[in-house]
Amino acid sequence: MSAKASAANLRSATRLLHAGAPALRDGAGPVNVPVVRTSTVRFENTAAHADHHHRRAAGERVASYGRHGLDTHRALEDAVVGLEGGHRAFLTPSGLSAITLVLFALLSPGDHALVADGVYAPLRRVDSTLLQRLGITIEYFSPTHDDLASLLRPNTRLLYLESPSSLLYEVLDLPALSAVARDRGVIVATDNTWSGGWFHRPLALGANISIQAATKYISGHSDLMQGIVVVDSPALAAKLSTAYEALGLTIGADDAYLSLRGLRTLPVRLAQHQRNATAVAEFLQQQPQVSRVFYPALPTDPGHALWKRDFSGASGLVSFEFRHATPATANAFVDALALFGIGASWGGYESLALAAQPERLREHRQWTGDAPVVRLHIGLEDPQDLIADLAQAFAAAAPAL
Ligand SMILES: *Cc1c(COP(=O)(O)O)cnc(C)c1O
Repeated sequence: MSAKASAANLRSATRLLHAGAPALRDGAGPVNVPVVRTSTVRFENTAAHADHHHRRAAGERVASYGRHGLDTHRALEDAVVGLEGGHRAFLTPSGLSAITLVLFALLSPGDHALVADGVYAPLRRVDSTLLQRLGITIEYFSPTHDDLASLLRPNTRLLYLESPSSLLYEVLDLPALSAVARDRGVIVATDNTWSGGWFHRPLALGANISIQAATKYISGHSDLMQGIVVVDSPALAAKLSTAYEALGLTIGADDAYLSLRGLRTLPVRLAQHQRNATAVAEFLQQQPQVSRVFYPALPTDPGHALWKRDFSGASGLVSFEFRHATPATANAFVDALALFGIGASWGGYESLALAAQPERLREHRQWTGDAPVVRLHIGLEDPQDLIADLAQAFAAAAPAL
């Protein structure tokens, strides 16, 4: 961005496009942030070395070693802080490590945390393999069925949410849940991967911490693993910083660069994911083989009113439930798809399909069915081609349903 434009007056898509643009030197320079790869940081003299150490210890974002990250990391951190509207960002090697960082930074032996039952499932493994061993209690609850206030204990330190939830996209009342928790001094963290940070701003709605797997929409091309944590205050930044350094977390400069590049096109990619996914969701609703479509942008979705209030758009994830089918039929349907890849993860430009594991569905209190569910990630292909592929897969795998 040239010195002539002041970032404060610009809308968020414009700010995302220009975030971190390097200053010109000698009247010229590149559009993009350079990729600064390093392990060792060199200092002019011992006094400069000591000065960096002191400033870092005082909480300043200066690097005295490669693990702290240099210009490329700073530019990405600043861009996501701008996107989520927070105080400081932390970059981690995967979305799951961003979740683990938050749990380790905020929870100590004897502490209790309430976790929404529809969260990204591997969090439960962090709990069962590490947190339980440390004497930390995680309690799963249904944010739409349970009374949060009655579940809070004197030792509850963290309310951990994800909205919409994984697999079934249950939309949560984030402002109401956050108000109850914050009233009792409980930190609120939420996983914002579904919206890419573009359609939903949790920190403006009451959360203290927003977590994203940049693996998904921010990078957007299925070519890297990365997590991002954005916190809303210097006090939380200090806590996260201590745990981040102790755990030795960092990311490579090339991956920081790729996420920064992804951010430039995040708004246009998400708008197209939404258009395509809406067309597919409407098609699915009309199929006799489908009993339910999970997509908050559909007026029939139970979370539609909350989604309309708290989100500015919907992503490319659409799940649907088969009417009276066996898991074998759902797998035959997925196998019959020609354009859709079969695989976990999502958020890239390409479409994916996978049958949900029944044990994952049963973790959600919201789930009362027993028919199989297929999760689709709708990519950026022409939606008519995707719909034709889905139609032929229904005809091949479940013509009689
Ligand atoms: C994929 C995902 C994660 C984990 O990200 P990884 O980079 O795969 O570790 C976390 N939360 C949600 C909602 C996800 O979909």
